[in-house]
Amino acid sequence: MIGAMQQQLDFITYIQRMLVEGDFSATYKFALLHALADVCVEQPLVSDQAELKIDLATLADKLIVLYWHHAVPFASEQSGKNGLLKQNNGTQSRVISLLYECQQKNITHLQQLKQSKYYKSTHREVLKTLKKQPLWRLQKLSKQDVCFLYPHTNSHDYITLNPGIAGCFRRFYDLVTYLAKSGWLQKIQSINYNKTLIGPSSELHDFLFSFDRNALSKVKPVLIELQHGNCFYCQKPLNSTTDVDHFIPFSRYANDLGHNFVAAHSECNKSKSNFLAAQLHRERWQNQNLVVNSQIISNELSAYFQCDTEQSRSVSDWAYQVAEANSAKLWLAKDSFEQAAGAGLYLNRDAELSLVAEGKPRYDA
Ligand SMILES: [Zn+2]
Repeated sequence: MIGAMQQQLDFITYIQRMLVEGDFSATYKFALLHALADVCVEQPLVSDQAELKIDLATLADKLIVLYWHHAVPFASEQSGKNGLLKQNNGTQSRVISLLYECQQKNITHLQQLKQSKYYKSTHREVLKTLKKQPLWRLQKLSKQDVCFLYPHTNSHDYITLNPGIAGCFRRFYDLVTYLAKSGWLQKIQSINYNKTLIGPSSELHDFLFSFDRNALSKVKPVLIELQHGNCFYCQKPLNSTTDVDHFIPFSRYANDLGHNFVAAHSECNKSKSNFLAAQLHRERWQNQNLVVNSQIISNELSAYFQCDTEQSRSVSDWAYQVAEANSAKLWLAKDSFEQAAGAGLYLNRDAELSLVAEGKPRYDA
């Protein structure tokens, strides 16, 4: 236990050092850091101390996902200008150029690219860039290799995260992705070419890291039908103000997965906000979206969103695990919360025994 805690501290320290001492002439390293965190929560992990083998093909796919929106010309309302943001000190970064080319072939969203004939060659080029640029450079701190996350094997196929590292990425996913995105944003803002384009802009964060509202509109009718016209949360009939809610909040896990959506009253959705939903909602979501209607959702939405039941399940398991470890509040209904069960795991044994002796329940139900 002490060893694991020490490793968590070392992990945070290392990530901080990396962001300060690493050489970031392009934005690839931020993207890679984000991609590593994503992969760690999308795959089930045998134990917090386990190693994790990650295919480079998977990482290349993640880079495409993360950069897709960045390859759309940025139109600033404030500066009135419009153009592709540069993501490299010198020439435009290769991944942005590749994705931009795809978008010129009338491919308007990511799933369309994945299902098109261009995906294979694009993926191959991104994989090449991944190996050439960030993969074996991410861990160069003050010009020295410090391979805390994974050994530099120069393998062409995979990396293996050192024991415990995937567990740390899961535990600190919010923090790592927040740091990666902030660093990324700052890097883009610091490139001279971008400065005139962006102006004094606060729109940039949403442009780079928000979800695809257009695609989201395709989801609503499908969900309303699956839910027989009722709000997912309060079960009452939906009305004209119906929202599509990210069941695992987008603020916690910033990727759109087809099985992660539910239809809810705008009021219920606003009240739930960035909270995880209570256990009874979780069970209903699993049953509705991952079991009973899993196939329908895949059929209807895979044109717009990544649809993979197991990935959705892993992400939700991870999110609830973290909530339990943090004794987080789970949203039940407007102004009503429950505590994530499992909080007792962090009580020491004596405290637990005394609770049992006093006849108190271990967890808030
Ligand atoms: Zn409702």
